[in-house]
Amino acid sequence: MSLRIAIAGAGLLGRLFALHLARAGHAVRVFDPAPDAQARGAAGWTAAGMLSPVAELECADEQVFALGLRSLALWPALVASLPSPVDLRFAGSLLLAHRGDEGAARRVIDLLAAKAPAGRAPQPVTGEQLRELEPDVQRMAHAWLLPGEGQIDTVQAMAALAEAAAAAGARFHWSRPVESLGAGWVQAAGERTEADWVIDVRGTGARPEQPVRGVRGEIIHLHAPGLHLNRPLRLLHPRHRVYIVPRTGDRIVVGASEIESEDRSPISVRSIVELLTAAHSVLPALAEARLLHTDTNLRPALPDNLPELRCAPGMLEVNGLFRHGWLIAPALVEEGLARLGVAGATDGNPP
Ligand SMILES: Cc1cc2nc3c(=O)[nH]c(=O)nc-3n(C[C@H](O)[C@H](O)[C@H](O)COP(=O)(O)OP(=O)(O)OC[C@H]3O[C@@H](n4cnc5c(N)ncnc54)[C@H](O)[C@@H]3O)c2cc1C
Repeated sequence: MSLRIAIAGAGLLGRLFALHLARAGHAVRVFDPAPDAQARGAAGWTAAGMLSPVAELECADEQVFALGLRSLALWPALVASLPSPVDLRFAGSLLLAHRGDEGAARRVIDLLAAKAPAGRAPQPVTGEQLRELEPDVQRMAHAWLLPGEGQIDTVQAMAALAEAAAAAGARFHWSRPVESLGAGWVQAAGERTEADWVIDVRGTGARPEQPVRGVRGEIIHLHAPGLHLNRPLRLLHPRHRVYIVPRTGDRIVVGASEIESEDRSPISVRSIVELLTAAHSVLPALAEARLLHTDTNLRPALPDNLPELRCAPGMLEVNGLFRHGWLIAPALVEEGLARLGVAGATDGNPP
């Protein structure tokens, strides 16, 4: 039976729900304040796209870890089903620490080793192994490999998800913010739409219905021809969380600040200096990279910084994906579709 589905929010979750539900033959309408499918308001566009279930255990729980593992299994078929290429890699990620930062690094490694199941704990990497894995990385005092972790090009994926959902029949209503919503109805731009199910995935826009807040994140895009990086790096630093993620076309993403503020203004000089100084200490060749652009966005977080999926008749709410959205979204969407009791094509294949 074909159901009428109204989705509030065309960010990462909104696009995934729209894709699966439209492919399963439901009548899907999606409402979002963005002027078009390419406008970059959603946090999903800004994300570095690391798919790191173990590294994220530093600030997440077993539920996020389990959703992350499930999503790692779902992403390949999903990406393969999209109409345009999306760079998705599973070459693991590296945790690195400079001499003198042993204390901070040890604390994180011990935490991850204690929380990760046997066989997934960080694996120490010798200097020689590090040179083989990442020849352009500076000699580091300490390095650990997290095998199996991945990364996705979020800009390519956001565009391809909307394209695929529209091709499957989902109707996107751009420049139409949802003003109010309830079980079985949404009101956008003064017009009420009735639905069998409303899916509220407005991220930080879901107030006051959800106790969500935005956590500011700043990120830097570089062009670094000649620099080779095979996998994401995270520097374990006493003060700054810094990661460096390779993208296609000789591009590198350096991120990210994590600031308790809903300020969406451009990146601060302090963040640029701290992020790039730390990144350059790991990859000296970055000195000649060119700064392409910077981006700032808000991670949607609930009070406990954990994701939540709430389902009542006629209404599904998913929010609080915080800093792990790309890591856990496919599995959360799969769970959401199961709660709705509707068929969805979560393996990426049309039914
Ligand atoms: C700097 C940064 C780095 C990140 N790095 C990573 C990473 O490496 N790995 C990872 O897994 N995650 C990362 N994330 C987190 C990830 O981007 C988010 O968790 C994810 O985008 C949340 O998805 P969402 O669909 O809930 O929200 P969003 O993607 O923010 O989408 C919400 C949508 O709702 C719309 N909306 C708002 N108000 C309304 C309204 N009234 N009516 C209709 N629509 C509305 C918005 O326009 C938007 O399109 C990062 C985030 C940031 C900011």
